Amino acid sequence: MARDSGSTANAERPVVTRFAPSPTGMLHIGNARTGLFSWLFARHHGGKTLLRIEDTDKARSTDEAIQVILDGLDWLGLEFDGHTYYQSQFEARHAEVANELLEKGAAYRCYLTQEELAARREKAREERKPFHIRSEWRDASPSDWPEGQSYVVRIKTPRDGETAIEDLVQGRVSVKNSEIDDFVLLRSDGSPTYMLAVVVDDHDMGVTHIIRGDDHLNNAFRQLAIIQAMDWPEPEYAHIPLIHGNDGAKLSKRHGAMGVRAYRDELGILPEALFNYLLRLGWGYGDREEFTQDEAVEFFDISGVGKSPSRFDMKKLLNLNGHYIREADNTRLAALVADRIGQSVDIELLASAMPVLKTRARDMIELADGAAFLFKQRPLDLTDKAQALLDSDARGLLAQISGRLVKQNDWTTEALEASLKEMAETLGLGLGKLAQPLRAALTGQTTSPGIFDVLSLLGKDESLARIDAQAIPSNQTAEI
Ligand code: GLU
Repeated sequence: MARDSGSTANAERPVVTRFAPSPTGMLHIGNARTGLFSWLFARHHGGKTLLRIEDTDKARSTDEAIQVILDGLDWLGLEFDGHTYYQSQFEARHAEVANELLEKGAAYRCYLTQEELAARREKAREERKPFHIRSEWRDASPSDWPEGQSYVVRIKTPRDGETAIEDLVQGRVSVKNSEIDDFVLLRSDGSPTYMLAVVVDDHDMGVTHIIRGDDHLNNAFRQLAIIQAMDWPEPEYAHIPLIHGNDGAKLSKRHGAMGVRAYRDELGILPEALFNYLLRLGWGYGDREEFTQDEAVEFFDISGVGKSPSRFDMKKLLNLNGHYIREADNTRLAALVADRIGQSVDIELLASAMPVLKTRARDMIELADGAAFLFKQRPLDLTDKAQALLDSDARGLLAQISGRLVKQNDWTTEALEASLKEMAETLGLGLGKLAQPLRAALTGQTTSPGIFDVLSLLGKDESLARIDAQAIPSNQTAEI
C-alpha cells in the first residue's frame, strides 16, 4: 500500500455520515470516538448522521448488546438522525445486489471447495509465494456451472492497475489491484459478507462520508471494487488512526480499553468529560482543551485529525473529569451521587454539601465516598485507623470539645473554625490534635472533607450526637 498526501472535499452532495457499530457487548471507547467524529462532521457541515447497527453476527447481536450501544451514545449526548438501521433487515437487498453483479458478469459463482483452497494455500506456503485466490470459475460460463453443488459468489476484482483512495486523513493511499483477491460476496448458505453488506447499506442510506478506524483502510479498496462494479458514486473516506495506550502499545484493558458504560459506572466519569476527552484524542484546535457540544460542532473538521495514533492517558481524563465535576450543577451531582449511594437520601443536604465535596473529587466514586459520612447511622462503624486514633486521651478531648460546642450557637464553617482554633490555643495543642479525633468521631474515617465543613454540614444535633457517642469524660477534664 502506498501513501501520499492530498485530500479532496465532496462539495456537491449534502453530507451524510453513518456510525456502524457491531454489537459486541460494549461500546468500546475507540468506537465511541469514531461515532463522535462522524456525528460532529455531519453536524458541522449541516448534514445528517445515521446510526446502523451491524447485527449480522446473530450469536453476538443480542438485544442487550444493542441496548448497551444505544445507551452509551445517548449518555454521550449523540443523537442520530432518523431511525436506527439494523443491517440484518437488509439481507435480501444484499443478495439482490450480488445477483445483479452476477448478471452483469462482474461476479461469479465459485465452486472451489474449502479443501481445494486449503491445498492451494499450503502449496503457496511451501513455495514461499504469497497466496492469491485465482479461481478457474472466474471465467466459466453459466452453462458450465455444476448443478446441485454448493458455491459462493465472488466478485471479479480488476487484475491490472491500481486502486487509489484520496483519504481525508491518510492522504492518497493506493494498492495494486493484483493484491486484491476475488473476495466472497455471498457465502454458500446465501448469506452476505460484511464487505458486501456495508457497501450496499452505505449506498442505500445515501452515505457520502465514511469516517471510521484505520483498521478498515484495507477493506476500503475491496469495498470500492463493489462500488465501481455497480457504478455507484464513491464516498469520501476518512480513516482515523486508532487509539493506543500511553506506552504506545495497542490499547488494551490495562490502558483503559473498556466500554463507555464502564467509564460511567466503574470509573465515575461524567459524559461531558468523556465527550471532551474523546474529542481531543486525535483532533486538535490550537491549544484549546474544552468545548461545549455546540462549540465542538462549530470547530470540528477532519482537517484537524492527525495521522498518527493518539495515546490514551487516563490521568488526563481524570483531571478533566475533576474539572467538569467542579463545573457541574450541584443538584445534578447530588442526584448522581444519590444513585451511587443507593439508599434514599436527602438530596437537598447532598446538594448543599456539593460545593465542599466537589473541590476534592476527580470522579463520581470519590465524590460519593466523600459524601457517605452524611448518611451514616449512629453508632458509626469506625475504620481500623479511626479506631486506633480514638485512644482514651482522644476520647477525653472529644468530651471537652462536646462541652464547648454545646454552647456554640453560630454553626457556620467560619464560626466553628474560630471557636475550635481558640480552644486549641487555650489547650496549647495544634489544631490537628483536635481535628483528628473529631474527624474519626464524625465520619468514622481518618480522611474527610475539611473538619469545619463536616461539622457544619452535619448540623449541631447530629454532630454532637456523633461526638458524644465516642467521648469519654474524664475526672480531670476541665471545661474549656
Ligand atoms: N461494523 C464495523 C465495526 O464495528 C464497522 C464497519 C464500517 O465502519 O465500515 O468495526
